[in-house]
Amino acid sequence: MGKESIPESIVQLAIADDIIKIGRANSLWPLTFGIACCAIEMMATGGSRFDMSRFGAEVFRPSPRQADLLIIAGTVTKKMQPGIMTLYDQMPEPKWVMAMGNCAISGGPFAIKENYNIVLGADTFLPVDIFVPGCPPRPEGLLQGIIELEELVSDWKRFKDPEKAHSRQPSIRAQADKEV
Ligand code: SF4
Repeated sequence: MGKESIPESIVQLAIADDIIKIGRANSLWPLTFGIACCAIEMMATGGSRFDMSRFGAEVFRPSPRQADLLIIAGTVTKKMQPGIMTLYDQMPEPKWVMAMGNCAISGGPFAIKENYNIVLGADTFLPVDIFVPGCPPRPEGLLQGIIELEELVSDWKRFKDPEKAHSRQPSIRAQADKEV
Protein backbone atom coordinates (compact mmCIF):
# COMPACT_ATOMS: atom_id res chain seq x y z
CA MET A 1 0.00 0.00 0.00
CA GLY A 2 1.68 3.17 -1.15
CA LYS A 3 1.11 6.80 -0.46
CA GLU A 4 -0.71 7.11 -3.82
CA SER A 5 -3.66 5.03 -2.57
CA ILE A 6 -4.53 7.46 0.23
CA PRO A 7 -7.30 9.77 -1.02
CA GLU A 8 -6.72 13.50 -0.60
CA SER A 9 -8.66 15.12 2.22
CA ILE A 10 -11.41 17.52 1.15
CA VAL A 11 -10.49 19.84 4.03
CA GLN A 12 -6.91 21.05 3.53
CA LEU A 13 -5.99 22.12 7.07
CA ALA A 14 -2.33 22.61 6.22
CA ILE A 15 -3.27 25.36 3.77
CA ALA A 16 -5.57 26.97 6.36
CA ASP A 17 -2.71 26.87 8.88
CA ASP A 18 -0.40 28.58 6.38
CA ILE A 19 -2.96 31.30 5.71
CA ILE A 20 -3.50 31.87 9.44
CA LYS A 21 0.25 32.10 10.01
CA ILE A 22 0.65 34.66 7.21
CA GLY A 23 -2.27 36.60 8.71
CA ARG A 24 -0.54 36.59 12.11
CA ALA A 25 2.78 37.67 10.60
CA ASN A 26 1.08 40.60 8.88
CA SER A 27 -0.85 41.79 11.95
CA LEU A 28 1.54 41.72 14.90
CA TRP A 29 0.12 43.71 17.81
CA PRO A 30 2.94 45.02 20.03
CA LEU A 31 2.33 45.92 23.66
CA THR A 32 2.54 49.64 24.47
CA PHE A 33 5.49 49.25 26.77
CA GLY A 34 8.88 50.95 26.88
CA ILE A 35 11.48 51.12 29.61
CA ALA A 36 14.18 53.59 28.54
CA CYS A 37 15.70 55.51 25.62
CA CYS A 38 15.19 52.68 23.09
CA ALA A 39 11.45 53.19 23.55
CA ILE A 40 11.78 56.63 21.91
CA GLU A 41 13.07 54.93 18.76
CA MET A 42 10.21 52.44 19.01
CA MET A 43 7.73 55.35 19.15
CA ALA A 44 9.44 56.96 16.14
CA THR A 45 9.01 53.68 14.24
CA GLY A 46 5.26 53.95 14.75
CA GLY A 47 5.22 57.52 13.39
CA SER A 48 4.49 58.56 9.82
CA ARG A 49 8.15 58.91 8.78
CA PHE A 50 8.97 55.24 9.29
CA ASP A 51 5.39 54.01 8.99
CA MET A 52 5.31 50.69 10.81
CA SER A 53 1.79 50.17 9.49
CA ARG A 54 3.32 49.10 6.15
CA PHE A 55 4.03 45.86 8.00
CA GLY A 56 0.71 45.70 9.84
CA ALA A 57 2.46 46.09 13.20
CA GLU A 58 1.39 49.61 14.20
CA VAL A 59 -1.55 48.67 16.43
CA PHE A 60 0.18 49.09 19.79
CA ARG A 61 -2.18 47.68 22.42
CA PRO A 62 -2.50 49.19 25.89
CA SER A 63 -3.39 45.80 27.43
CA PRO A 64 -1.17 42.67 27.38
CA ARG A 65 -4.34 40.63 26.89
CA GLN A 66 -4.69 42.13 23.40
CA ALA A 67 -1.00 41.98 22.41
CA ASP A 68 1.06 39.22 20.83
CA LEU A 69 4.45 40.97 20.65
CA LEU A 70 6.45 42.17 23.64
CA ILE A 71 9.24 44.54 22.60
CA ILE A 72 11.68 44.93 25.49
CA ALA A 73 12.88 48.45 24.64
CA GLY A 74 15.30 49.64 27.30
CA THR A 75 17.34 48.78 30.37
CA VAL A 76 15.93 45.94 32.47
CA THR A 77 16.55 46.34 36.17
CA LYS A 78 16.07 43.61 38.77
CA LYS A 79 13.21 45.64 40.22
CA MET A 80 11.50 45.81 36.80
CA GLN A 81 11.98 42.15 35.87
CA PRO A 82 8.99 40.69 37.82
CA GLY A 83 6.71 43.33 36.25
CA ILE A 84 7.84 42.40 32.75
CA MET A 85 7.29 38.71 33.51
CA THR A 86 3.76 39.46 34.70
CA LEU A 87 3.01 41.34 31.47
CA TYR A 88 4.38 38.42 29.43
CA ASP A 89 2.28 35.91 31.39
CA GLN A 90 -0.85 38.00 30.75
CA MET A 91 -0.38 37.89 26.96
CA PRO A 92 -2.36 35.16 25.17
CA GLU A 93 -0.64 32.52 23.02
CA PRO A 94 0.85 32.60 20.46
CA LYS A 95 3.19 35.40 21.52
CA TRP A 96 6.67 36.60 20.68
CA VAL A 97 9.39 38.62 22.39
CA MET A 98 11.85 41.03 20.84
CA ALA A 99 14.91 42.39 22.69
CA MET A 100 15.46 45.89 21.31
CA GLY A 101 18.81 47.53 22.00
CA ASN A 102 22.01 46.52 23.74
CA CYS A 103 20.51 47.00 27.21
CA ALA A 104 17.76 44.46 26.54
CA ILE A 105 20.25 42.11 24.88
CA SER A 106 23.06 42.15 27.42
CA GLY A 107 22.76 45.05 29.87
CA GLY A 108 24.40 47.45 27.38
CA PRO A 109 26.49 50.34 28.75
CA PHE A 110 25.15 49.68 32.27
CA ALA A 111 26.65 46.19 32.48
CA ILE A 112 29.51 47.21 34.79
CA LYS A 113 30.34 45.66 38.11
CA GLU A 114 29.27 48.76 40.10
CA ASN A 115 25.71 48.31 38.79
CA TYR A 116 24.29 45.60 41.03
CA ASN A 117 20.72 46.10 39.77
CA ILE A 118 20.99 45.42 36.01
CA VAL A 119 19.64 42.26 34.37
CA LEU A 120 22.18 41.09 31.76
CA GLY A 121 19.73 40.41 28.96
CA ALA A 122 15.99 39.77 28.60
CA ASP A 123 16.76 36.24 27.41
CA THR A 124 17.82 35.36 30.97
CA PHE A 125 14.16 35.32 32.02
CA LEU A 126 12.03 35.37 28.81
CA PRO A 127 12.12 33.35 25.54
CA VAL A 128 13.44 36.08 23.23
CA ASP A 129 12.76 35.38 19.52
CA ILE A 130 14.50 38.35 17.88
CA PHE A 131 17.44 40.51 18.96
CA VAL A 132 17.80 44.02 17.50
CA PRO A 133 21.28 45.37 18.36
CA GLY A 134 22.26 49.03 18.72
CA CYS A 135 22.39 51.78 21.32
CA PRO A 136 19.77 52.69 20.37
CA PRO A 137 18.84 50.78 17.21
CA ARG A 138 17.40 53.08 14.59
CA PRO A 139 13.76 52.62 13.54
CA GLU A 140 15.01 50.84 10.40
CA GLY A 141 16.63 48.28 12.73
CA LEU A 142 13.35 47.65 14.51
CA LEU A 143 11.56 47.31 11.15
CA GLN A 144 14.18 44.74 10.09
CA GLY A 145 13.44 42.90 13.33
CA ILE A 146 9.72 42.91 12.46
CA ILE A 147 10.51 41.50 9.00
CA GLU A 148 12.65 38.75 10.57
CA LEU A 149 9.86 37.97 13.04
CA GLU A 150 7.33 37.72 10.21
CA GLU A 151 9.49 35.01 8.66
CA LEU A 152 9.83 33.23 11.99
CA VAL A 153 6.07 33.29 12.58
CA SER A 154 5.03 32.11 9.13
CA ASP A 155 7.97 30.81 7.01
CA TRP A 156 6.77 33.52 4.63
CA LYS A 157 9.26 36.03 3.22
CA ARG A 158 8.13 39.61 2.64
CA PHE A 159 11.04 40.14 0.26
CA LYS A 160 11.68 37.06 -1.85
CA ASP A 161 15.01 38.32 -3.12
CA PRO A 162 16.51 40.89 -0.70
CA GLU A 163 19.38 41.60 -3.11
CA LYS A 164 16.89 42.71 -5.75
CA ALA A 165 14.79 44.66 -3.22
CA HIS A 166 17.83 46.74 -2.24
CA SER A 167 19.28 47.28 -5.70
CA ARG A 168 18.06 50.61 -7.04
CA GLN A 169 16.34 50.67 -10.39
CA PRO A 170 17.61 53.47 -12.65
CA SER A 171 15.26 56.43 -12.49
CA ILE A 172 13.10 57.37 -15.49
CA ARG A 173 15.18 60.53 -15.84
CA ALA A 174 18.45 58.56 -15.93
CA GLN A 175 16.98 56.21 -18.54
CA ALA A 176 15.80 59.18 -20.65
CA ASP A 177 19.28 60.79 -20.43
CA LYS A 178 20.82 57.53 -21.62
CA GLU A 179 18.54 57.37 -24.63
CA VAL A 180 19.38 60.95 -25.74
S1 SF4 B 1 20.60 50.38 24.46
FE1 SF4 B 1 21.30 52.51 24.62
S2 SF4 B 1 19.56 53.70 23.88
FE2 SF4 B 1 18.78 51.65 24.37
S3 SF4 B 1 18.02 51.79 26.47
FE3 SF4 B 1 20.17 51.10 26.56
S4 SF4 B 1 21.35 52.98 26.81
FE4 SF4 B 1 19.33 53.59 26.10
